[in-house]
Amino acid sequence: DRRAADTAPPTPGALADGTPIALLANLGKPGDAVDAVARGAEGVGLFRTEFLFLSASQAPTVTAQRDAYRELLSAFPGRKVVVRVLDAGADKPLPFLNDAHEENPALGLRGLRALRASEDILREQLTALAEADAETEADLWVMAPMVATVEETAYFTALAREYGLRTAGIMVEVPSSALLADRLLAHADFASIGTNDLTQYTMAADRLLGSVASFQDPWHPAVLRLVAEVGRAGAALGKPVGVCGEAAADPLLAVVLVGLGVGSLSMAPAALSDVRRTLSLHTLDQARRIAEAALAADDAASARAAAQAAG
Ligand code: PEP
Ligand code: MG
Repeated sequence: DRRAADTAPPTPGALADGTPIALLANLGKPGDAVDAVARGAEGVGLFRTEFLFLSASQAPTVTAQRDAYRELLSAFPGRKVVVRVLDAGADKPLPFLNDAHEENPALGLRGLRALRASEDILREQLTALAEADAETEADLWVMAPMVATVEETAYFTALAREYGLRTAGIMVEVPSSALLADRLLAHADFASIGTNDLTQYTMAADRLLGSVASFQDPWHPAVLRLVAEVGRAGAALGKPVGVCGEAAADPLLAVVLVGLGVGSLSMAPAALSDVRRTLSLHTLDQARRIAEAALAADDAASARAAAQAAG
């Protein structure tokens, strides 16, 4: 799409002391790329590929997928685009992947687990991504959802490299992955924290269930401690750590995440300008101090209040 390629490059996100914090877009279809660029996205931190599959009764062809990925990638020449392979199951069920009834689908065969059970679908998706990558100038990163173990990380990154995809990483959205982030990052090139699911699984509260919605708050210090664990592992191993859950779109929480070691934030494009402005008002030292205050709280509300007071 030439219109996107022709617009001026966005101002990179940065803290008050000049520390760069990449501000990226969460996208659900290629057609949303032009708007994201117009709103200053430096690239894409989460491209959800479910749109290609959700209305279908069978998996889309490699050709249909390649065309969609090419449209996306061509909107971001020279820029990072993180594409997540299919995240089916739980809140995103697919008839041809998730056929067995499960009492607890959020704890079931979803994300990478479902793809491994139908590996041909994963292989076709990687084939289509590699073809689109070869035809475009974007910096394509691929990642897997719902990774819970080192073995799954090694499996996915090896498979992606088999297809010539150079940068392969994982979403950290299960507490086990956050706790073992240093082990997972020994295999993965990067980690992207999905705070929506990470909060659901840390708090044991179904993200779709209104009666437990008060637990679904990424400000909870238990969630923040897990983010800190991933941030530490990324720094120790020199591997990028980003956040692509809703938490990244909350300007003060974005400051906290950066203080915990997160180097890129991906969000709905409409949220970019507020987060950009708030980050520009804080130095890295201040962000770390604000994060310490939030971490020391007993619950989500006190963490938020402590961060506000420390800011
Ligand atoms: C998340 O879980 O935080 C995430 C970004 O993925 P999704 O919302 O698509 O599950
Ligand atoms: Mg998720």
